[in-house]
Amino acid sequence: MSITRYLLASDLDGTLIPLERGPQRLREVAELVRAFEANEQLLLAYVTGRHLSLAQAGIEEVGLPSPDWFVCDVGTSVYRQANGGFEPDGEYRQAMRAAFGGLVGDDIRVAIGSVAGMELQEEDKQAEFKVSYYTPGRPEPLVETVQSRLGAARANVNLVASYDPVAERGLLDVLPAGIAKDYAVRYLHERSGVDEPHLVYAGDSGNDRAAMLSGYRVIVVGNADEALKKDLGIESVAQGIAERIYFAEHPYARGVLEGLRHFGALR
Ligand SMILES: [Mg+2]
Repeated sequence: MSITRYLLASDLDGTLIPLERGPQRLREVAELVRAFEANEQLLLAYVTGRHLSLAQAGIEEVGLPSPDWFVCDVGTSVYRQANGGFEPDGEYRQAMRAAFGGLVGDDIRVAIGSVAGMELQEEDKQAEFKVSYYTPGRPEPLVETVQSRLGAARANVNLVASYDPVAERGLLDVLPAGIAKDYAVRYLHERSGVDEPHLVYAGDSGNDRAAMLSGYRVIVVGNADEALKKDLGIESVAQGIAERIYFAEHPYARGVLEGLRHFGALR
């Protein structure tokens, strides 16, 4: 008798890891964990912007189980469970290096060199295929300089500029061209061998958007950005995939549980 396997690929912060803590939120996580334990056919991958060690600390803090895969650093690294720990996936690293134009993060740092007004973020924000900077104001005015230095080094990159209004500083991430969470989720689909209708992606914000529009089954947790919900509603109809996107009534882990039941991923 063959068992139908499912894969839940889920964002962490704002999806499985609640943004506000409290006994009720932790009970909801515990309820989801019990459902995972009762369903061995459900594989698990966490897809996060966090570095591996911070992702592990985050799941321990709220009591989430150890997954089959971690996708970290906004989709630029994949780790698989091996020998009781997690090892970087070698094939994925090769794909990242190729996407960067044959380079790694250290080469990217050297190619950019020093740019007035830009400083490297802390070491735990850096990854083999992700280089991250702070800027005192909005990062956009520095993009052209960075772009031209990287062009001279023949790097293929995706520059992601954003602004943190709380810390009042800019953030500039240098990623391999074409790489984000959606690329990693397609890779997991291939590696896991689950049928396409059995891969369920869960998320809450803009950095999940591309993965949510990749054609897989999707859970949008109840606490997700209103603008994202509206946008996904319109886009999914335009792309003919509206029935694949489930807007959960509940927030966080409870919304993920609700969505997994909707798609039949839990017995
Ligand atoms: Mg999130």
